[in-house]
Amino acid sequence: MQKRAWAVAALAIGLAGTFAWGSERSADPAARQGQRPNILIVTVDTLRADHLSVNGYGRETSPNIDRLLNGGVHFTDARTVEPLTNPAMCSMLTSRAPSTHGATRNGLRLRPGLSSLTSALSDYGYRTGAFVGNWTLRDRLSGLGEHFEHYEEVLNRRRWFGLVRSEATAEDLTDIASGWIEHHVEHDDWRPFLAWVHYVEPHAPYRFQKDHAEILDGVERPKKRDRYDTEIAFVDAEIGRLLDRVEAVSPGGRTLILFASDHGESLGEHGYWGHGRNLHEPNLRIPMGLTWAGRVPARQIDSPAMITDLAPTVLGLLNMPRPGEFEGFDWTAVIDGAEAPVGRVTRYEAHKGAVLAKHASDTARRAGLLQVATLVDGRKEILTIKKDSVSAFDLEQDPGEVRPLAPGIATRVREWYVAVKEALSREAGLPAQQLDEESIAALKSLGYVD
Ligand SMILES: [Zn+2]
Repeated sequence: MQKRAWAVAALAIGLAGTFAWGSERSADPAARQGQRPNILIVTVDTLRADHLSVNGYGRETSPNIDRLLNGGVHFTDARTVEPLTNPAMCSMLTSRAPSTHGATRNGLRLRPGLSSLTSALSDYGYRTGAFVGNWTLRDRLSGLGEHFEHYEEVLNRRRWFGLVRSEATAEDLTDIASGWIEHHVEHDDWRPFLAWVHYVEPHAPYRFQKDHAEILDGVERPKKRDRYDTEIAFVDAEIGRLLDRVEAVSPGGRTLILFASDHGESLGEHGYWGHGRNLHEPNLRIPMGLTWAGRVPARQIDSPAMITDLAPTVLGLLNMPRPGEFEGFDWTAVIDGAEAPVGRVTRYEAHKGAVLAKHASDTARRAGLLQVATLVDGRKEILTIKKDSVSAFDLEQDPGEVRPLAPGIATRVREWYVAVKEALSREAGLPAQQLDEESIAALKSLGYVD
């Protein structure tokens, strides 16, 4: 456990003993823990929203995720802010764009001392635990450990003979995270928990999950896309197991559950396989939802939503103050029946995938920007930095982004570029960091190139 986490825990316990929680304590541990909901955040790496059966996909890839999304608010038009694991997950937890939190690429750490969902909840006594299955989220690479009391990297690299693995399987994550939650509920008689579980499947290389081959309905030679789908079915089954175990110790309305992917995946669209290098919809669109039985009604929200909205929305639902630095939108009023805002402008960044060389991180930050984009009322503008050229699309008429419009002056996206550049130059003062050889090898094995 880290120093700051201890300090926060001690502060929270002190508060509990004096005034904030003192009057709420009772003899029944379940009742005491039930004062505020437990929170479970489930994120799935590289999961495209349109490959889920709940969104009309032709294969039964996701019965458990479907159940989750159908049980609460399902954001059907949600996007990540940058299609890379570390930047996106740092943005989800800090509700900031990558250019303002500093972790713009895999291998660059989050700026220390930022407000986050977890630091806000720690102040209210939450015990926070993270269980991450992607090498890029290691604390030494991401800096995310500061935001959790318990930060566990589930990375079984030597499980298979001679093969350097940079990720755990979903089974490991489910078992380890569930074990921590069960232990916490059994032994802690008043603090609610927040647990974040990040599954790495279906990140490339897409493995053929033969136990889930039935979803392919007789395909004899599974291609990449088919293997990708079996990985979704595999992780979905593990999410089902996780939800069952959590439900057993923290049933129904006692648990607020967030679900999202960190980014999508381009499966050949625009001549590209993978994620991170462009800001087209297959990279940006993510599944996203929030359930809390008895408080959040089951409904769809079709207005544009962002991964950075999750943190302020959770605090809004819990009636907790929102840190002033949060950039996301709090959907609580809309969940409670207000009209969704119209004309919202959302903004995106793409940076090079990973810092693989041992050079100073400020150079890597400023040199890594590939594209920026804006979206408002269905009009998307993407500025490619190297070419200084803008592509514009009408997503309603052209969801595949194959018929560019005349870009015009593209003032909005150019203003966003100026803001990102300014933010990146402010980040230049961060201490440089160097990657060890093991991390460089692991990042390369995940397919990241400088
Ligand atoms: Zn990812």
